[in-house]
Amino acid sequence: MKVDRRRWLGAIGALPLAACMSSRESGFPATGWIGADPTIGHRLRTAPPDSQEAAERLATDVLIVGGGIGGLSAGWWLERAGLGDFLVAEIQPTAGGNARGGGNEISRFPLGAHYLPLPTRESFTLRRLLADLGALKGDPDGLRPRYEERLLCAAPQERLLRHGHWQEGVIPDAGLSKSEREEFSHFFALVGGYRNRSGTRKAFALPMACSRLDDEMRHLDTKTFGDWLRENGLTCAPLRWYVDYACRDDFGTPADAVSAWAGLHYFASRDGMAEGAANDVVLTAPEGNAWITEGLAQRLGPRVRCGWMVRRLTRTRSGFEASIDDVGSGRSIVCAAKAVIWAAPLFIAARVIEQLPDLARAHATQIDYAPWVMAQLTLESAPPERPGAERAWDNVVYGARSLGYVVATHQRLSAAQAPTVWTWYHALTGAPSPILRQQLLASTPEYWARFAIEELAPAYPELLPHVQRIDCIRHGHAMARPRPGFLTAPARHWFAQGVAGLQFAHADVSGFSVCEEAHARGVAAAERIAARLRGRMPDPSVIYSV
Ligand SMILES: Cc1cc2nc3c(=O)[nH]c(=O)nc-3n(C[C@H](O)[C@H](O)[C@H](O)COP(=O)(O)OP(=O)(O)OC[C@H]3O[C@@H](n4cnc5c(N)ncnc54)[C@H](O)[C@@H]3O)c2cc1C
Repeated sequence: MKVDRRRWLGAIGALPLAACMSSRESGFPATGWIGADPTIGHRLRTAPPDSQEAAERLATDVLIVGGGIGGLSAGWWLERAGLGDFLVAEIQPTAGGNARGGGNEISRFPLGAHYLPLPTRESFTLRRLLADLGALKGDPDGLRPRYEERLLCAAPQERLLRHGHWQEGVIPDAGLSKSEREEFSHFFALVGGYRNRSGTRKAFALPMACSRLDDEMRHLDTKTFGDWLRENGLTCAPLRWYVDYACRDDFGTPADAVSAWAGLHYFASRDGMAEGAANDVVLTAPEGNAWITEGLAQRLGPRVRCGWMVRRLTRTRSGFEASIDDVGSGRSIVCAAKAVIWAAPLFIAARVIEQLPDLARAHATQIDYAPWVMAQLTLESAPPERPGAERAWDNVVYGARSLGYVVATHQRLSAAQAPTVWTWYHALTGAPSPILRQQLLASTPEYWARFAIEELAPAYPELLPHVQRIDCIRHGHAMARPRPGFLTAPARHWFAQGVAGLQFAHADVSGFSVCEEAHARGVAAAERIAARLRGRMPDPSVIYSV
């Protein structure tokens, strides 16, 4: 697609003049980039094929490419299936992918994913993983499992600033007119209708492949969520804001660009419960979901090889051969494997895997990834609050372009509000993703720090004196946007099934990015590989064809 680059850059670069001054001039807090270094991934673009003689040759049963939730879950499942001979190649210096954690002297904080909804009954392998990690006690298959207290988000969980007043929860239900209230009721009744449908399968389930995918449900994938809302007379501004917020939060994309199936899936699929907790409580920790990836990486031990960039993967007579660069030393490694689990983003698979069918390669290169930026605001004192509900874990400003902030120290028992770290999230929209990515790559952390301060200004007009420093994080390819047609795309189904000895375990296989999907794809891929190498049939309850 051709786009007028200058027009787009002009449109999205609009920040007040103050944002263009340097921090030295303005006494602005110190800023910097943290998190995954984009230049490491970009080496793949320029790496010449097999430029040097291999310094090391090794062999393993299974090579897992990518150490995010998908790849680490695959390793965890292989181990459970009795296959301990595997390696996880992770390009970055630490494993975890988009569920990594960071930290400073005040607190740990998320570098990506920040919460896990209570796992559904269909996510039974995830529940088992949480039991293995000590987070779930008792029967993992129960209706209401018991979760570790420190992970259940303490009340208040969410609040929303609207008309200068904080209200509890993020549904803008305070001060609605009668007709707006009716629209909200109608919306939740429609969502409830999908939730409560009887049948052998739920209309919308997590993992998504457990959903009932008949013609009626597939039809929802032919239109946008925005169209579906309009068709149902759901057009009032507060409801549209709420739905858009949810879509930007989960898909990095407003409702007008999201498949209606995906949008409804967000609202209708999450029905996990916990003993002694409200149903909408989430599992969280100061480091976000990194407690899961760190726990997994610890279990897999030295089999996780960080700083290993897989730059070429080719099929051989006996399996696969991977050319790997050790990013730190520059050494070249060749790894022979009987089978491969590809758990890195699919657009990279299109670059690295040599014998990918045309259909699959075309699909992988056409996935539209939403870029995101985050900012960690380290606060030495608490700024004054607007009236209304007290500070929650997740704090959202109605009408803002960004998604608000979560408080890293929220789960601490002490009621102290500062010092603390606020993690601010922003999904970039408003221009084609490649342009947004270009802007992100060219931008400075100070630009985004000022952007975050400006976005939070309706809630905190005097925030700056309380901020010690602001560290920003770039996610150029944060998450696949589930546009209409994503669900039924034949190539996505090809990735879901894989081919003999080569399976795909990234959240991209589901077409949208949440930790439950990444985990489920990791387990499915590992189960297929374990069955193949062990000469048995795969367990049908954990593998998917869609
Ligand atoms: C800002 C943000 C907030 C989010 N918030 C939430 C949330 O609150 N809850 C939730 O459920 N989900 C959330 N998500 C989505 C969630 O983080 C992802 O769905 C999940 O972490 C994806 O896991 P994955 O294993 O599929 O992929 P990834 O996390 O993308 O992992 C893939 C790994 O492959 C590595 N890799 C890439 N190329 C190579 C190569 N050539 N060689 C070796 N390794 C390679 C990468 O470095 C990466 O570590 C969020 C995502 C983002 C970006």
